[in-house]
Formats: sequence, structure tokens, C-alpha cells
Amino acid sequence: MSKCKGLSLMSGGLDSQLAVRVLERAGAYMEAVCFSTPFFSPATARKAAEALGVKLHVIDFTDIEVRLIENPPHGFGGAMNPCIDCHANMIRTAGEMIREMGFDFVSTGEVLGQRPMSQNRQALGIVARESGLEGRLVRPLSAQLLEPTIPETEGLLDRSKLLSIQGRCREPQIALAAEFGIVDYPSPAGGCKLTEEGYGRKLKDLKDHEGLGTRRLIELLAVGRHFRLPDGTGLIVGRDRIENQTLYADKALGEFFDSGKLPGPGALLIGGAKSDSDRALAKKIVAAYTKGSGVTDREFFKPYHLC
Ligand code: SF4
Repeated sequence: MSKCKGLSLMSGGLDSQLAVRVLERAGAYMEAVCFSTPFFSPATARKAAEALGVKLHVIDFTDIEVRLIENPPHGFGGAMNPCIDCHANMIRTAGEMIREMGFDFVSTGEVLGQRPMSQNRQALGIVARESGLEGRLVRPLSAQLLEPTIPETEGLLDRSKLLSIQGRCREPQIALAAEFGIVDYPSPAGGCKLTEEGYGRKLKDLKDHEGLGTRRLIELLAVGRHFRLPDGTGLIVGRDRIENQTLYADKALGEFFDSGKLPGPGALLIGGAKSDSDRALAKKIVAAYTKGSGVTDREFFKPYHLC
């Protein structure tokens, strides 16, 4: 019989999977929650939750994440990732869920010192405080290095079965994965597009020009090559047939054109061309990706290419 119930943040990465298993071993019944946005797909979390046999709640977190990108109180990490505020808000939302569900605590797979900006002792403290959950936020992988939480002091969770992992070395987690029979997990870096430099460049450009109010424009950041032309027109050029079809389907967002009879990409001018010279430049860029167009030199568009 489990003595308590916990809701664990689940990305699908190894640490989030281990957190669930360690807490189960320490006496808890566990469910998991994944926060879905155009920057983070819940697919890996779904797969991991299924393999672990835990119930997964998927929450659309887009509106909150966009607000944080527009104004991150604790700033960005290495790219456009407002990790400290993002994490605090995810945990706060999970906190509201456990109150409704009658659960005892929220947990995460955070490891003290694993990420220099967002998982140092100070950042973990900020997240705990700002989420409003302090004594009910359990980090089972580093728990023995942190203050005991309420479920531990109340004897609902066996603190001796929680761990004291810290730092960037992954060996303890890999050994633990083998012990628990966890074989399927992605590399630790992957998952959130906000941490990718090139994606961050496109997102910042969208924020500075069209703004982040249109969700579909955010989703289109994952499609095609993106350009910002001299008079301010945003241009997306498809990289394959599926992307060309996607841009065509979104033609209501601006002005769609393609390479005509020659084999080449489709393109979308976001909101339409801002000037005739931008439109002419956009056509020349598309021609540079079109076989038989006669435009072979691509150097001319480099200053406008975002990613
Ligand atoms: S990596 Fe992405 S999803 Fe994770 S805390 Fe940072 S911004 Fe949020």
C-alpha cells in the first residue's frame, strides 16, 4: 500500500523517468504530468509514461509559455528559454492540480548542479519559492542534499530511499536506469526547441516583428527556411513537398507563391510583401532553390537568412 500520492513532471527524459521509479520505491503512488507547447511535444513523455505504467496528464501550456517569452522575470538561458520561470510556472500549475486531485506532493527529475543556469542550488530555491509549493516539492534524485520536504518529515516518503545525486556526470543515472530496467530514453539535451540557438533566432525575430499573438505563426517556425527581408517582410521557404503543402494550406496568413513550372519550393510572405523590392527579393530567393532557374549563387540572401 502506498502511503502518499505524487504528481511528477514528465518530459520523457531519463531523469524524469527515474524520479517516478525512485518515489515509488520510497512509498508513493505516482502519476505524471507533461506540459505541451509548440516548443515541446508530449510524444516522448507519452511513450515514457506508457513504459512506466503511470497515468499521464497532458496540459496545454502555450499561453503561459508565450507570456514568459514576452517577459521572463528571471531572463533567458543560453537561447530563448526562460527555464527558471517556465519551471516555476509548471510546478505551480502542478500544485493546483494536486490540490484538486487530493495528492500530497509534486516532484521533478531535477538534479542539483546538473545545469549551470537552472539547476544550481539558488535556482532550485527560486523555483520552489515562486511556485508556492516549497515544502511539497520533492526532487527525489537530489533529495538527501536538500531540506527534507513535508511528505518526508511526515514519514509518508522514506527519505533513506531518496538519492543524493549531483553534478553533470550521468553515470549514477545510467546505473540506476539499468537497475530499474529503463532502456528507452532520449539524450539529455533534446526536447525543447527554446534551447536551440537557431530556433531562438527565429522566435526572437517573430516576437520583434509580427509578435507572438498568432499561434499558427509560432507553429510555422518549425517549417521551412526563414528569412527577414530588408523592408521587414517575413519569408518562409519550404524544404520539401510536405512543407510546401503546409505553407500553401496557410496561405491565408499572407501571400503564397511557388516556382511555377520549374521544380522548386513553395513560399509564404507573412502578412504579404511590405514592398515591391521585398517581393522581388523573395522571388529571387525561391529561384535560388529552384532547379533550372539560372540563379545558382546563394550568397546574396545570407544577410536575411535566420535559420
Ligand atoms: S527546457 Fe523548455 S520546457 Fe524545459 S524548463 Fe526550459 S523552457 Fe521550459
